[in-house]
Amino acid sequence: MADTETEALTDGFHLIIDALKLNDLNTIYGVPGIPITDFGRMAQAEGMRVLSFRHEQHAGYAAAIAGFLTKKPGICLTVSAPGFLNGLTALAHATTNCFPMILISGSSEREIVDLQQGDYEEMDQLAIAKPLCKAAYRVLHAEDIGIGIARAIRAAISGRPGGVYLDLPAKLFGQVMDADAGAASLVKVIDPAPRQLPAPESVACALDVLKSAKRPLIILGKGAAYAQADDDIRALVEKSGIPYLPMSMAKGLLPDTHPQSAGPARSLVLKESDVVMLIGARLNWLLSHGKGKSWGDKPKRFVQIDIEPKEMDSNVEIVAPVVGDIGSCVSALLDGMGDDWSAPPADWTNAITAKVETNVARMAPKLQNNNVPMDYQGALGSLRTIIKERPDAILVNEGANTLDFARSIIDMYQPRKRLDVGTWGVMGIGMGQAIGAAVETGKPVLAVEGDSAFGFSGMEIETICRYNLPICVVVFNNNGIYRGTDVNPTGGADVAPTVFVKDARYDKMMEAFGGVGVYATSPDDLTRAVNEAMDSGRPTLVNAVIDENAGTESGRIGNLNPQSVVSKK
Ligand code: ADP
Ligand code: MG
Repeated sequence: MADTETEALTDGFHLIIDALKLNDLNTIYGVPGIPITDFGRMAQAEGMRVLSFRHEQHAGYAAAIAGFLTKKPGICLTVSAPGFLNGLTALAHATTNCFPMILISGSSEREIVDLQQGDYEEMDQLAIAKPLCKAAYRVLHAEDIGIGIARAIRAAISGRPGGVYLDLPAKLFGQVMDADAGAASLVKVIDPAPRQLPAPESVACALDVLKSAKRPLIILGKGAAYAQADDDIRALVEKSGIPYLPMSMAKGLLPDTHPQSAGPARSLVLKESDVVMLIGARLNWLLSHGKGKSWGDKPKRFVQIDIEPKEMDSNVEIVAPVVGDIGSCVSALLDGMGDDWSAPPADWTNAITAKVETNVARMAPKLQNNNVPMDYQGALGSLRTIIKERPDAILVNEGANTLDFARSIIDMYQPRKRLDVGTWGVMGIGMGQAIGAAVETGKPVLAVEGDSAFGFSGMEIETICRYNLPICVVVFNNNGIYRGTDVNPTGGADVAPTVFVKDARYDKMMEAFGGVGVYATSPDDLTRAVNEAMDSGRPTLVNAVIDENAGTESGRIGNLNPQSVVSKK
């Protein structure tokens, strides 16, 4: 073939890369292998950032959190069958959490897969992905790559965001076509997440309900954080004078120290409120489904702002559904409030303030303890001060007790700085989210991890070291799951199922890959080590030795554990 002819051709590899770049998707999180190894190389050569992980699940969690932070779909790239399945956990997680993400997996030959003739890594990936994501597409011809990627982007970020699967069979990558026709086939997606304005009458209805309230409450969820309507949300809260409760990933939308924050009076406001306005928060298990003991026995009326109409009445009746994107809904509410809005009754807001002050004062001395071995309060007290002094650092948090205590103890001051287990409450998001956050924002990341939680993604500290990311991992090491003290009741050689190696040195894992490892036994040690890490930006792991007696079963959700009532012999 003559050179001039070669120049006039393109192929699947290049078209996929060009389509992603055209849509400003310039970072890929993945694991190389058949059939996408060369694709990753070429993407890097074409100027994309291609980050290789040690396991697809963590690449997927990085992509999912990139979606949450940027409002653009995070891209995860995997090999076929097992790699695809590993990435699928993260895709399902993204969908459940309403984060935009695209899982792109290479797949085996269609003809062989469909006849089930036993190909290398044979699997009907499209069919398996479908129930776990918002949309799933397969591209068979190079000329359809532009449309396939455009559809994936639109599906991921329009309406309620979520995960999208894109199946790319091995043969597609090498398909050749005319370069001009190829370029013309690419689509730059215009207005991929169009504004969705709420109906004026639903805004008016919501305002009427709010006006009639004696004890109103606003609940901010991670949808509100995702929407990036930070100034308007703050203006709405402040102009209304209504106390607000942030869900965990909405913390910092307004600073947790804001006078209207009802965070430390959570039980009181859930029980006593008469009107609750949900902004980007679902009434799922995290809010006890909007009913039952934690909501008290007083009648409640709910206003809900959400982009997904089907979310309304999912658990209880919503008297004022406001369907639209949060930015548009909040600004419409602000406009509708006018200049003569009156603040909620003072007996309500004063009661909350009093409760907040009592609870904060009760906690304060516990957070200052310098006990050795550390308890959760002492250790988290020092991390709390660090985040106060470094409000633009990102906090990643998972575990059981480590999650529950950190969520309530560590105040957040800026939007989208707290990233945690999300809707499923799962373990395993830690290192993936830390890497995604560091890559997308360039900010220092503090990952506060239970020792059990850390284990799910621990190998990714090699990834952190390889890319020299400014991540400081603190492992709350209490020798086990919930606690390190369980014993095998039979006296047999195996330890109890919840117990790990005693005094494990997670810090040495980090040293093995060239990072900084620190063994910390006191809150002072911990403060020093974390500050040093945040200043230097060097990958660091602090093994924080926590009293193995500290901690309770399943943290604060022990009630979800079925327990046998049959007495033991
Ligand atoms: P949390 O767990 O913090 O309570 P959820 O994940 O339960 O939050 O709820 C987030 C809600 O936000 C979802 O119902 C989702 O449809 C909604 N949402 C996400 N993005 C937007 C947006 N831009 N505008 C309106 N609603 C949104
Ligand atoms: Mg533990």
